[in-house]
Amino acid sequence: MYDVVISGAGPSGSKCAEVLAKNGLKVALLERDTEWRKPCGGSISSRIFKYYPKLRTSDFIRINAITMYSADFHKFKYSWKGIKDDAINVDRLVFDNFVRDVAVDAGAELFDKTITYDFIYKNKMKIGIKAKSKGVTKEFFGKILIIADGMSSKLATKSGLREKWKVNEIGLVKCAILEGENLIDKESISIFFQPYKAYAWIFPLDEKRFNIGIGTWQEENLNYNVNNLYSKFLQKRAIKQILPKSQYKVLWEGSFPIPAIGVLDKSLYDDTTMLIGDAAGFVSPISGEGIHPSIVSGKVAAEASINAIKKENISKENLRFYKTHPNIKKIIRTFKLKLSLVEFFFENRGKNLSTMFDIAQKDDEFREEVIGMFLFNKIPSKNFLLKINSNN
Ligand SMILES: Cc1cc2nc3c(=O)[nH]c(=O)nc-3n(C[C@H](O)[C@H](O)[C@H](O)COP(=O)(O)OP(=O)(O)OC[C@H]3O[C@@H](n4cnc5c(N)ncnc54)[C@H](O)[C@@H]3O)c2cc1C
Repeated sequence: MYDVVISGAGPSGSKCAEVLAKNGLKVALLERDTEWRKPCGGSISSRIFKYYPKLRTSDFIRINAITMYSADFHKFKYSWKGIKDDAINVDRLVFDNFVRDVAVDAGAELFDKTITYDFIYKNKMKIGIKAKSKGVTKEFFGKILIIADGMSSKLATKSGLREKWKVNEIGLVKCAILEGENLIDKESISIFFQPYKAYAWIFPLDEKRFNIGIGTWQEENLNYNVNNLYSKFLQKRAIKQILPKSQYKVLWEGSFPIPAIGVLDKSLYDDTTMLIGDAAGFVSPISGEGIHPSIVSGKVAAEASINAIKKENISKENLRFYKTHPNIKKIIRTFKLKLSLVEFFFENRGKNLSTMFDIAQKDDEFREEVIGMFLFNKIPSKNFLLKINSNN
């Protein structure tokens, strides 16, 4: 019997387990495979250091700029060197095992090669999680059950909290880690918006290795094939200038879906159960950034559990703490705003973005708004949107 059983030891589940264990709770952290590398760009803002101070001294590459390209390669670069902390780009295999180790050091019990597949019920209440480990069925009983096993979570749908994602609610992404001589700006991440709802990226990992990928969004998943888009992207003239070699060594590649409509705020909790991280949609609908918001959701769900177990009341009413926490409310609000901007950005075959980056080169005030919107979750003014429309 555990206080809390967590399905999935990615960033959200591991942070949740760490906070619970640090507070003296008995935690089972169930993970399908610690040798799996989650398909991901691995770009994480400096906000991560608050949650993992040790990362400040890690070997992960430091990033202090973002370069964005519109579909017709109009460019916008913003550097925060000397203004705020560097971001980092990580290899997810290394990063995920780092966050798991932190949870284990705090006292959580990690069960590797353990695939969860159903709940255990008593009087219609969920009281545990069933899993298979090396062909053997195991049962983990817990006062609270936390679903952190990502985008394709079976337990999330079995919990009754949400349905399976529809194709227009997700992104479909292909990415790879490549190696070879290149002309990538090693201090910047680069994002390449497409003329339809899709974008590509190139993120340096060190002098020779880089993470590269492309994903389609929402209804465009039905109109484009990401494998074809990926091959075509590598052949573009502007990309050839950055990656001039005819062939790069493929160190790893993978494809994966990503939530694309923001947090499913009606699906976050029920009696004894909470959904966190990708399983609940904690991914920015514009940038695809999900590592930091997932970690925040894991921490707050842990605090909600501690609070509920202390009060000996694990009912839905008491777990409301999770959804109503200011940090979660802020993420929900910001993602709603971003979702509304997605349509605008990709309107007119990407013309709005192209115009936006153009004006930002000449107009300092406008430039500040672009930075605020992309990097600091600020709401653009009416004037800002009017300027784009009148310059189109
Ligand atoms: C291609 C791509 C690129 C991305 N790029 C970025 C980026 O650059 N920056 C960023 O911030 N975010 C990025 N994201 C989003 C980010 O990857 C996720 O938001 C983040 O990983 C969510 O963390 P999580 O712990 O909720 O889920 P996950 O990281 O998916 O972790 C879930 C864990 O559960 C385990 N699991 C799954 N099923 C089971 C089961 N049945 N039983 C037991 N364990 C199970 C998995 O093995 C995994 O360890 C990207 C996503 C994709 C798909």
